[in-house]
Amino acid sequence: MIRNYQTNSAEETRSLASNLGAVLRPGDTLCLIGDLGAGKTTFTQGLALGLGLPPDEPVNSPTFMLLAEHPGGRVPLFHFDVYRLPDSSALYDLAFDEYLSGDGVVVIEWADRITDALPPDRLDIAFIAVSYDTRQITVMARGERAKEILSQL
Ligand code: ADP
Ligand code: MG
Repeated sequence: MIRNYQTNSAEETRSLASNLGAVLRPGDTLCLIGDLGAGKTTFTQGLALGLGLPPDEPVNSPTFMLLAEHPGGRVPLFHFDVYRLPDSSALYDLAFDEYLSGDGVVVIEWADRITDALPPDRLDIAFIAVSYDTRQITVMARGERAKEILSQL
C-alpha cells in the first residue's frame, strides 16, 4: 500500500505529518529516507504536534546525539538520526530494540542506512525535493499495522 503526497511549503509538510501523528500508537515505527534538506526533520516536527507535544517543543536533527527523546505528548516520541552511525551494529549500544518494542513512537532519519535493523511492520516515508519549496512524499506501508495507519490518513 503506497500513498503519494506533494507539499509546497514546510508548513504543509508539518500539517501532513501532524495528521499522521494523530493516529499513531506506541510501538509504531516510521522510517524516513531522503537527502539532506529533503524534509525529514520538518516532517518529524509535524509528527510531534500530532502526538500532542507542545508547539514550542524543539525538534531538530539529532545528528550529533543520534537520539532525542520527547516525552510529554499523548505518546512519547523517540527521534533517531543515524546519519553518523558507523553501522547498524552500533545500534546495540543505544538499546535500539528496546525503543522499537517500547511505549513510544520511533522515528528514524536516514533509516536506509540500517535496513537490517528495521522491524518488518513499519512505514517507510521517502522525501524528494522537487524544487525549492516542493517535496514529493511517498508513504509505503510495510506490514498490517502500517496499512491500518495509512488507511486512516
Ligand atoms: P532533512 O531533515 O531531510 O535534512 P530538514 O527538514 O532539516 O531536512 O530541512 C528541510 C528544509 O527545506 C527546511 O529548511 C524547510 O524549511 C525547507 N522546505 C521548503 N519546502 C519544504 C517542504 N515542502 N517540505 C519540507 N521542508 C521544506
Ligand atoms: Mg534531519
